[in-house]
Formats: sequence, C-alpha cells, structure tokens
Amino acid sequence: MVGKLAGVAVALAAGFVLPAYAASIETLFGPYMSPGTEIAASTEANFSGLVTPRWTTWETPNWTGAIKPETEADLQNIVKIAKANNISFLATNGGHGAGICYGTISGIDINLSNFNSVSIDVANNELTIGAGVKIGDIIQPLYDAGKAVPHGNTDCVGMIGATLGAGIGIGTGIYGLGIDSLKSVRLVTASGDLVTASRTSHPELFWAIRGAGANFGIVASAKFQLQDQVNNGNVVRGAYTFPGSANRSVFELYKSFDDFIPPELSLQLGISYSRATGTSQIALTYFYFGPLSGVQPYLDAAAALGPTTNSTSILTQPALYNSLQNGECTIGSPISGGTLGLGKTDVPTLQAVFAELVAFNVANPTTYVGQSVFQRYDNKLTLQTPSYETVYPWRDIKTFWLHLNFYLSPALEEPAANLTKSMRAKLQATSGFATPHVYVNYAYGDEGPAAWWSLKNLPKLVVLKALWDPKKLFGKANPVSGC
Ligand SMILES: Cc1cc2nc3c(=O)[nH]c(=O)nc-3n(C[C@H](O)[C@H](O)[C@H](O)COP(=O)(O)OP(=O)(O)OC[C@H]3O[C@@H](n4cnc5c(N)ncnc54)[C@H](O)[C@@H]3O)c2cc1C
Repeated sequence: MVGKLAGVAVALAAGFVLPAYAASIETLFGPYMSPGTEIAASTEANFSGLVTPRWTTWETPNWTGAIKPETEADLQNIVKIAKANNISFLATNGGHGAGICYGTISGIDINLSNFNSVSIDVANNELTIGAGVKIGDIIQPLYDAGKAVPHGNTDCVGMIGATLGAGIGIGTGIYGLGIDSLKSVRLVTASGDLVTASRTSHPELFWAIRGAGANFGIVASAKFQLQDQVNNGNVVRGAYTFPGSANRSVFELYKSFDDFIPPELSLQLGISYSRATGTSQIALTYFYFGPLSGVQPYLDAAAALGPTTNSTSILTQPALYNSLQNGECTIGSPISGGTLGLGKTDVPTLQAVFAELVAFNVANPTTYVGQSVFQRYDNKLTLQTPSYETVYPWRDIKTFWLHLNFYLSPALEEPAANLTKSMRAKLQATSGFATPHVYVNYAYGDEGPAAWWSLKNLPKLVVLKALWDPKKLFGKANPVSGC
C-alpha cells in the first residue's frame, strides 16, 4: 500500500496541472478504499447523498467532494492520499459544527456515518462507540443497561464531536464532562497511523484530545467509563414561561443559583421574542436527576413568580432527551451563533442583553428570530479533575451562554453577527472572568485559541500540534493557530 501511495504522489508531482481531485476524486482514492466506500465529486449527482448534512447553512465549507469510508484502513488511506496530494479535508459526523472558520474550509468531506457501532460492556463498565455515533444512538441502550455517560443534550449531535471539545449537558453536574469519562481513543494521525491515546498510551496527545481533539486526527472510535444511572434513569422537568416584563425577578431567581446549585439540578434560561404574539418572553426550565421531592422547593420558588405557563413532568431519560429536540435536529437553516462562559450572573447585564435582543427582533419583524439560552450546569464534579489533566481549561464556567440567530434574509447575516458580538461584550464585562472563557464547541470563531484553550495551555498545545500534525491537516474548524 505504501508503494502504491508513493506512486500516486509521484505521478502528481510529475505533471498534473489541475488539482487531481478536481479531475477525479474516484481515481485518486477509489483504488485504495474497501469495496463499500462511496466517493463523489461535488459535481456528481450522488454527492448530495454522501456529504454530511449540515445543521446550518451559515459559513458552509466549500466541499469539492465527499468520501464515505467503511473501515479504519480506509480512514488511514484517505489521510495518506490527501496529504500526499495536498488535498484539504474535514471529517464530519453530526454536522452540527458551526462558526466562521467553517466558511474558510475548501476540500473533501469525510463522512464518518458508517462507523456507527455502539458496544456496552456492563461487566467492565465501558462504552465503546464508533466515529459515526450520534448522541441519540446511545441514550436508549444506556438506559436499558442502567448505565450512564456524560453527553450533550441534542440527539443528532455527534457524540465524539461533542466530547472532543469537552462534552457538556444537563447531566454535567451529576455525571461530569464527557472528556472526564473518556478512557481512550483510536486515532488516525497525520502520518496515517492508527494510534491509541489514553492516560497511559501517548498521554500528552490524550491531554490535547480532551478539549482540542479535532486538531489531532480522526477519532475512529472512543471508549468511555460508564457510571451507574441515577434515580432509575428518571428526570424531573419543570418548565415555566414568563412574560418579558418579569425579567428582573426571573433573572434574580437564576442568579440565586450562582453560589450553590445541587449537582442533580441544571437550569436553562431562554430569552426570546415571539413574532406570533409580538411579545418578549422568558423560559426557565429545571432538569433534576433525582426524585420530585428533592427539587420541589426550587420549583415552588419559580411558581411563586407567577409564570404564564407552568408544567412539571417526570420522564425517563430517553423520553426527556427526545423532548428536547426543538428544531435542533432540523438541518439546513441559516443560523449563526455565539457563546461565552460566565462565572457569575449580573442581573443588569442580563436585562441589557435581553433588551438588545428584543429590540433587534422588533426592528426585523419578518426576517429574524433570535434566542439566547443560559445553561447553568453545576461544576463541582467538573472541578474535581485537576486542570492539568486536559487542555479543556474552563472548569470554572458556571453558565454557558449560547446565542442563536435565525435569519431569513442574507442581508441580516452581518447585523445579526454584530448583535451577537455586542451581547457578548456586555456579558464579558460582568462575567467574573478577566479574559474570555469560550467553550470551543459553541464558538463563533473570532475568539481565538487563547479564549478556547487558555493562554496557559497554548504553548504546550502548539508544541503538540507541531509534533502530531505539522502540516495542519486537522482541526480547520477551530485551528490551534486560529483561522
Ligand atoms: C443544536 C446544537 C446543540 C448542541 N448541543 C450541545 C450540547 O448539548 N453539548 C455539547 O457539548 N455541545 C453541543 N453542541 C456543540 C457540538 O458539540 C459541536 O458542534 C460539535 O463539534 C458537533 O459535532 P458533530 O459531529 O455534530 O458536527 P460536525 O460538524 O460533523 O463536526 C464538528 C467538528 O468536530 C470534528 N469531528 C467530529 N467527529 C470527529 C471525529 N470522530 N474525529 C475527529 N474530529 C471529529 C469535525 O472535524 C469538526 O471539526 C451543540 C451544537 C448544536 C448546533
């Protein structure tokens, strides 16, 4: 195989004028793939069936083709051939990656969805999944086994893609971060080798995988430590909506969780504007991984504020996560976003941000719907892992602010981005952090590597990047060197 690949590279060096992939991606890669691998140039009819569907049409990569491989050896050969021929690529799965760096990518989409194996080893408390597994693929099997692993909230997001940034969700307080349950990965590196990274095998690489994983290779499979499911897998959800006029008291209630929140509890505070009713609104949702009696006093405090709607339900974890998909799995809409980590809540700042969001909605009544969500996840368990363990640095974040702009007119793309940045600047000023703490998986893209991985971690990260991926084949969506 090495000889064949060298032959391809030499043939190219000897005289093709056009980039080889523009001539025939099939000719270049096809002979070195397993029989089930599918390949298409972007001009071919079957391309749309092969390329990973993207959640947002904002800042879409310019795909020149797509390959849907079947085996780890295929992945290795794709990397070797692409490198030998100077072809850019991005490995994708859930298609939920978003940010301005994606718009700078031009190359081949490596669609990982064939790697969809899920294996639960109850005796050894281990979960092993392939690169194509989505969060929704593991929820029911884990529930059935009475086990749990930290994961994000949205079914259709890639499980490994989310974990490589940190892996946060409503279960963070009780199960921790995804990276803290990650035991090992099988990774195709820039040399095309398949290596295992863990605490004992390439530990420095494993440090970088846990927070900046997309920059170091294609994770073919990942092994997680399982935990026992709490509360028989049942979760209490208390959902409240308030009129916008109640903002101060609702924000004060949210702030009251700054110093202490039970590990079993997480909050989502959503601020938005309804085009249907022409009114602003606040949604406050409680998720409690324990019995109703444990969360009742907190629910009573929300009910005492006089919500417009109020519902409490006890759901199995599969039913709960299924209910959380509120357009998040609808693909192909123009949605831009932004984020910031907060160490404290400042009520006047939240009020100012809410007012700005509402004003923008009102100014663009037919072409824009924006919403922000403040996700309060308890970080006591997260802080138990020493900061030197992982390149993910922001264990002190208490609230993850995630803003989404749904804009129907392209003319609104820039104004919506400016709105995001303006809200972000307001929140940063009172975040409790001197420098921006940005969860890389939610990043807008302009924050830069220090905001994603911290100034302290950057020197080590840069050295490891130069060692493992000197030609910068990987991580173009959030590069170690910025985009
Ligand atoms: C609606 C929505 C909800 C979200 N909810 C959560 C949440 O609850 N918790 C959370 O932590 N994050 C969440 N995220 C963020 C999410 O973790 C990131 O967007 C993540 O990168 C998505 O992975 P993907 O496979 O779906 O996306 P893709 O676009 O397919 O990939 C995104 C990035 O991950 C890389 N990648 C994916 N798989 C691999 C692999 N096997 N090996 C190497 N690199 C890989 C890609 O190369 C790319 O850089 C959410 C995002 C959206 C849009």
